[in-house]
Amino acid sequence: MSKNIELIWQGHACFEIRGSKRIIVDPFLEGNPVAKIKKEDVEADIVVVTHGHSDHVGDALYIGKKNEAPIVTMVELAWLLSEKDKSLTIHDINFSGNVIIDGVKITAVPALHSSSYEGKYAGNPGGMIIEMDGTTIYHAGDTGIFKDMELIGSMYKPDIAMLPIGGHYTMSPNEAAEAVKMIKPKVAIPMHYSTFPLIKQDPSVFKSLAEKDGGIKIIIPEIGKNFNVDIK
Ligand SMILES: [Zn+2]
Repeated sequence: MSKNIELIWQGHACFEIRGSKRIIVDPFLEGNPVAKIKKEDVEADIVVVTHGHSDHVGDALYIGKKNEAPIVTMVELAWLLSEKDKSLTIHDINFSGNVIIDGVKITAVPALHSSSYEGKYAGNPGGMIIEMDGTTIYHAGDTGIFKDMELIGSMYKPDIAMLPIGGHYTMSPNEAAEAVKMIKPKVAIPMHYSTFPLIKQDPSVFKSLAEKDGGIKIIIPEIGKNFNVDIK
């Protein structure tokens, strides 16, 4: 039975997740050479930001304000963002902590990366577990591979995992395919690649490596196109 979640990849790490609420994760749109939507056109009930880098914070403040949508992010980054605009609702969570907004549960999990915002240290980077309408999505943020992905898999049992494969700053297809084996989602989706020449990758390499042992389906979305994930 297909569950009622619709996804749109806006290139890089930006996903729109639509179910009973509209969520946008890492809304890097302005300055994103591959995004198909403008920040002005985003409709969102919740904005999620994994870490402080500008290609992830992106237009979060603008979208949060325009849509009167709360922002969920890691604690130190939340403080930095709050200083920019005190009128926004910003939920600061930290590893294993969660917030529930209108039935959507968002939990922070570790990411092996770094985080800074406008030249300031922005605490730890995170991945986010998003649970909505009975579907669990693990957006890994920017990360290298780490063994606790196994725990993230067994603890939260994500139906869908969004994993960076661009290399240079994050995992490459090799590491991401190993990560899939630790996380064991039903479906994995590659992200954070080919936005810029430095992170150019062929996602079919990831797909063939990750699907080799069977059991896990890899979906390579087209940027800007809605798609459903059939999780049984
Ligand atoms: Zn980053």
